[in-house]
Amino acid sequence: MSYTIKNCRFGRGIFATRNISKGETIITITGPIITQKEVDKRSDKEAANALQIDDDLYIDFQEPGVLVNHSCNPNTGISRDTFLIAIKDISVEEEITWDYSTSVDTGWTMRCACEEKSCRKVVKDFESIPINLQKKYLKQGIVMTYIKKKVQ
Ligand SMILES: [Zn+2]
Repeated sequence: MSYTIKNCRFGRGIFATRNISKGETIITITGPIITQKEVDKRSDKEAANALQIDDDLYIDFQEPGVLVNHSCNPNTGISRDTFLIAIKDISVEEEITWDYSTSVDTGWTMRCACEEKSCRKVVKDFESIPINLQKKYLKQGIVMTYIKKKVQ
């Protein structure tokens, strides 16, 4: 395993326990499939744990994947809707992050305090992010398939 769960300023997060090379799979995402209706029934906090994979479908995101925090300048992304892969070399102790906008296509929003220079302050759906960043993420293969189909 290349990571551990640690307390951090966002509660808990996932941190590298060794140097990780670009392209490596860090976590495989698994969990029950749930519908929009089931997500709507949840509290806001629990609903935030649902990972959108289609217009009406979500993965009920489990630990450790659900503990990976958002960053507007992430070091990982979700490839083929399943694998959290490194999109750059990651150093030991570094926090593992991904950009939640690469999976979102609803009115969902989240305030961001990632403190990156490129912080967007509010995390919204994929089409809300700058077009150059959309293109970069598409090229890196870390945009959910159902969103990719819409924007291409
Ligand atoms: Zn941010």
